[in-house]
Amino acid sequence: MHYEIGAQPPSAQNVLFSAQAAAQLAPRARTVLIIEDDPLNRKLFRDLLRAKGYEAHAAPDGPSGLELCRQLGPDLVLLDVQLPGLGGIEVARAISAHDAPPLMMAISAFAGEAEAARLRDAGCVDCLSKPVAIADFLTRIDGALMGAA
Ligand code: MN
Repeated sequence: MHYEIGAQPPSAQNVLFSAQAAAQLAPRARTVLIIEDDPLNRKLFRDLLRAKGYEAHAAPDGPSGLELCRQLGPDLVLLDVQLPGLGGIEVARAISAHDAPPLMMAISAFAGEAEAARLRDAGCVDCLSKPVAIADFLTRIDGALMGAA
């Protein structure tokens, strides 16, 4: 008989365990503010983050997002770039000017090199492309917050 130790395929349970391990590694960095005008994306991001144990809040536009950011003092802001009125890059610049600004991660449907550079200049640590792959989304948020914890 031949056994390969440690060669089990990834299972839903293994994924869940690693999510719990990640949650325990970053006990302080848990509050995420989502600023996203699309109601379905807003709900999807919030539900995914809550299911993973984050305290997730959401705002539908830049001005209300900036206000909520001041009130909550989140660890991370997840920022849609294509927002009506006050756009995501302007929102990022405004948040960067806060005292002790949170980490910011942008989500964009047009995340080319030039836009990614503008977002970095505005203070974003990462830029995710839409449509968002769920596993990648959660991994990169965990990664950003673990770096900050
Ligand atoms: Mn949008």
